[in-house]
Amino acid sequence: MNAPMYRPPDPAKGCIFCRIVAGQATASRILEGPDCLVFMDLFPASKGHTLIIPKPHSESLFETPVEALSRVMAISKPLAEALRAVFEPDGLSVIQLNGAAAGQTVFHYHMHLIPRWFGQPLHIHGRRKAERARLDTQAATVRAALLDVMQATG
Ligand code: AMP
Ligand code: ZN
Repeated sequence: MNAPMYRPPDPAKGCIFCRIVAGQATASRILEGPDCLVFMDLFPASKGHTLIIPKPHSESLFETPVEALSRVMAISKPLAEALRAVFEPDGLSVIQLNGAAAGQTVFHYHMHLIPRWFGQPLHIHGRRKAERARLDTQAATVRAALLDVMQATG
């Protein structure tokens, strides 16, 4: 049987990303720093689809302080290198949506890093839930690669 399709989380249950930060919801975590969290997307648009979030809640680019945005951007570079080393994609899309009209479905600022391959178009909608064990394995592999990249670059 096919895994469930993506449905935006119910906001009545509280912000899902704040719940992940607080350890109240499960995530396949790659790296946690004092200000940011990196984890696997539960409904990946491609193999290795990863999210970076600032820990404090802010809805979108418009509400997020520039310092928090800078920290997300700073992690995106070594993370991109780690994803390239692990998944060997042909390219990498960095996507960040602001507002429902732009397609944002989780209203806690986040940056998507999506490995891309020739011949595999990006389908933002119609994605299916990944298996947790598979995401956990990928997260551990990316974490090791990310630590290698960070050590090598100081
Ligand atoms: P956006 O459409 O830009 O707001 O992206 C929200 C992203 O969060 C989507 O790619 C979802 O697949 C992802 N997502 C939603 N719930 C979870 C969750 N519990 N754990 C990990 N990723 C999630
Ligand atoms: Zn939040």
